[in-house]
Amino acid sequence: MAERVSNYENTNRLFDKAANAIDLPEDERLLLKTPFREVQVEVPLRMSNGHIEVFLGYRVQHNMARGPMKGGLRYHPHVDIDEARSLASLMTWKTALVDIPFGGAKGGITCDPALMTLTELEHLTRRFTTRIGLAWGLHTDIPAPDVNTNAQVMAWIMDEYSQRYGYTPGIVTGKPLALGGSPGREAATGRGVSIITREACLEFGIELKGARVAIQGFGNVGSWTARLLAEMGARVVAVSDFSGGLYCSDGLPVEDLFRHAAMTRTIGGFGSGEAISNEDLLGLDCDILIPAALGGAITQENARDVKTRMIVEAANSPITTIADAILEERGIPIVPDILANAGGVTVSYFEWVQNVQVFTWDEARVNEQLEKIMSRAYQNVIGVMRDKNVRMRTAAFMIAIARVAEAERLRGGF
Ligand code: NAD
Repeated sequence: MAERVSNYENTNRLFDKAANAIDLPEDERLLLKTPFREVQVEVPLRMSNGHIEVFLGYRVQHNMARGPMKGGLRYHPHVDIDEARSLASLMTWKTALVDIPFGGAKGGITCDPALMTLTELEHLTRRFTTRIGLAWGLHTDIPAPDVNTNAQVMAWIMDEYSQRYGYTPGIVTGKPLALGGSPGREAATGRGVSIITREACLEFGIELKGARVAIQGFGNVGSWTARLLAEMGARVVAVSDFSGGLYCSDGLPVEDLFRHAAMTRTIGGFGSGEAISNEDLLGLDCDILIPAALGGAITQENARDVKTRMIVEAANSPITTIADAILEERGIPIVPDILANAGGVTVSYFEWVQNVQVFTWDEARVNEQLEKIMSRAYQNVIGVMRDKNVRMRTAAFMIAIARVAEAERLRGGF
């Protein structure tokens, strides 16, 4: 029977497993699971063909016990309130796990940017900002890029918000450098994934040099992860995006592929490598499988076909809970999303700090601090995993939930 569980329910199942392990009282569970605030807006837009289309935009602010809420904005046809709730909650656990002073939020617009002109996208972004911006704030909620949003989209948001509320570069992160973005932010999520992959290889007995890596998704996260793992000596044997996949047993020419994708926004049309499907990529015999596209890539339908020695979740929620249980039973270690992809929000935090202080760091400082924070979080997770004899995902959630619960208790006010 097919799995029919909402995204939010999926995330809450992971939460409950860890909450059981730390004996979190029932009333505190409810407090931590319930989103703080949810906003939905109508975004009407006159398209270039003269017709008005009505889009829906969302922002779910999950928890702010540890600081302003932080999380990406996604532009995709599948964006809905359930997905935003699930991803907002993951952001709460992610920021707590890496111990940066933020809570969690997430949002986006149900739309297909591939079918829109740049001008339509700009107007959509500006109208969305006008309507939902009253729920944002430098010390309340700070959006960032996610699927199909980038530095240009963040620039439009910053400009629109600043026109209304006064110059506020720190209202979004992931901005272009010329507008107060941080050096190293574009690569940050992939850099974090590669740092955590390097460490996890040591734990699970995989030699990173020469390891065969397959990466699903070649956008911001997938392409930077490929590039940085190749720099560390791994062999990126397969990558894919919406257009399909490429395979080469000796390793793909990652730098050339990176440049090609940066110019054309796809790996399609690249001159080398054998064509494979996305399903083939997920079932490839490899050492490290990195889903870096959308959620729900590995399900109960394909979890038994996975033939890797380790999975690193660069995407958010790429494995459904039933698939997760199948992979656990099969003994395939999984490095969870809230640890693996936390590099993005960590450097977003550095960007916000720089904006608030009006003082710019250089890239070396950003990367050094990122390495420190990611390594510390990794060591914390491994420590709990060994001490409590739990999986890495449960250990990560246990640490995060305990931190947010403590902050809620100390603040009180119920
Ligand atoms: P992106 O829009 O830059 O790239 C998404 C990639 O996935 C593209 O290459 C796209 O072609 C590909 N893709 C889409 N559908 C696919 C399919 N069915 N099969 C294979 N590939 C497909 O997005 P991104 O920012 O790289 O985000 C990717 C994932 O990482 C998301 O789950 C996102 O939530 C997560 N994430 C992103 C960041 C960040 O800083 N951007 C931070 C943490 C987590």
